[in-house]
Amino acid sequence: MKYIFITGGVVSSLGKGLTSGALGALLETRNLKVRIQKFDPYLNVDPGTMSPFQHGEVYVLDDGAETDLDLGHYERFTHGKLSRFNNLTSGQIYEHVLQKERRGDYLGKTVQVIPHVTNEIKARMYAAGEGVDVLITEIGGTVGDIEGLPFLEALRQFSLEVGKSNVLFIHVTLLPYLRAAGELKTKPSQQSVAKLREIGIQPDILVCRTEEPMTDGMRQKLSMFCNVEQKAVIEEMDVKHSIYELPLMLAQEGMDKLVVEKLGINAPESDMSAWNSIVRRLISPKGGECRIAVVGKYIDLQDAYKSIYESLAHAGIGNDCKVSVLRVDSESIERDGAEAHLSGVDGVLIPGGFGDRGIEGKILAAKYARENNIPYFGICLGMQIAVIEYARNVLGLDGANSAEFNDNTLYPVITIMDEQKNIVDKGATMRLGSYECRLLKGTKVYDAYGEGVIRERHRHRYEFNNAYRKRFEDAGLRIAGINPKRDLVEIVEVSGHPWMVGVQFHPEFQSKPSRPHPLFCAFVGQALKRSKASKK
Ligand code: GLN
Repeated sequence: MKYIFITGGVVSSLGKGLTSGALGALLETRNLKVRIQKFDPYLNVDPGTMSPFQHGEVYVLDDGAETDLDLGHYERFTHGKLSRFNNLTSGQIYEHVLQKERRGDYLGKTVQVIPHVTNEIKARMYAAGEGVDVLITEIGGTVGDIEGLPFLEALRQFSLEVGKSNVLFIHVTLLPYLRAAGELKTKPSQQSVAKLREIGIQPDILVCRTEEPMTDGMRQKLSMFCNVEQKAVIEEMDVKHSIYELPLMLAQEGMDKLVVEKLGINAPESDMSAWNSIVRRLISPKGGECRIAVVGKYIDLQDAYKSIYESLAHAGIGNDCKVSVLRVDSESIERDGAEAHLSGVDGVLIPGGFGDRGIEGKILAAKYARENNIPYFGICLGMQIAVIEYARNVLGLDGANSAEFNDNTLYPVITIMDEQKNIVDKGATMRLGSYECRLLKGTKVYDAYGEGVIRERHRHRYEFNNAYRKRFEDAGLRIAGINPKRDLVEIVEVSGHPWMVGVQFHPEFQSKPSRPHPLFCAFVGQALKRSKASKK
């Protein structure tokens, strides 16, 4: 077992998660089994209850863990699936330590950060690596943060325990470019590494995030001041087109060679052909272009719909076409009408969401897509929106709604799940994780998946109200997918429409550039068809 730890210096948002993912991808091209995980120093138990303004998207795993969005990068860049043990927070550690203390497990000892908290962190490290050749662990936050200290201390101890030759420390840092001076500056990185060395961690590799190419002189300087071999000073420029260029860029810098050498791993040369083809399709697609509107309420936030945007890019790879995404604020549709924002788009996607802000705008967007035969993909809340719209405008159920937005509606076509009725705690209490879904033969989704039984990940409290099922079906809304155990409606499709599909689950959590999700592919394929037809 080999261990790689990735820390960050100088500023946050350096793209440590992407670097970790890309490194994992690179090692996989050398036939190594890799797992990537994240330790987050904040005190929340998980990010499930955090606002998108604070934390971006909550990424859900098969086992139902609500995790940091970096786990999404890890799963997209590499092949292994992750579990709840791969996203550890200080909140989880302290919760566990305090439970043990209350039980009396510490036998009267004073409970302290060292060794009790650090022991807990190390125990999680030992448990997480089973079955892989290399375990990559990213430490959230920036070196120098008070809350990150116990983690760094635990890593220092850990490397001593498993032997230094089995551990590699990679420090991702920023070289700021000073326009006035016309140069990149190395001092913040020097100081950040000094901070790490103070704790007893000497980085083996320095990954330098930069807008401008580094000179040899700078590499020398960083090598000397940071006590890192010159060939281990790696340049990581901003990507030009897509994050999926990153494995290729790091390979060019010799990153994989360096890592296997330093860890003494015997691995074949890397085979980059798959990544080359992914990047070729992203940069110069041969099959035309389509425009997809994503209608949401967090459209200004880079990270709130991360996996959705990534999945659309993957579907571009799958269709060998360019996908341009138009981010539309659902409240602006309430103000100006759907036509003003959606005319000319080739597809409308409504992602998941909570709370009633912007809901009516989303309903208008669904109506516009249905009436104008524009391909529509509703995900979780987006499926519920399609159902509400159909109820109001096709079934004529005036004021139909989800009980989430109006508890007193006469027609609660979306209703709270029975098991959710008495739940008060907000943390980790939704219907979460992977469940089976049976598809109806002859539907669009059956065609897309090419099979009748699928598994997808969930995160919701409300569901399609089966009391209305017959009325919907009689009016042309097909129930295309069912959870067999609970007879829960998971997929609806509008008959007679080119492609209007709503799914209660989150397909965006299972899409990868190397394996674009079938539903995203089918949706983008339909949008492409529409785009081509409109140009004729
Ligand atoms: N708010 C809705 C529910 O809880 C949809 C959730 C979602 O879109 N993730 O059912």
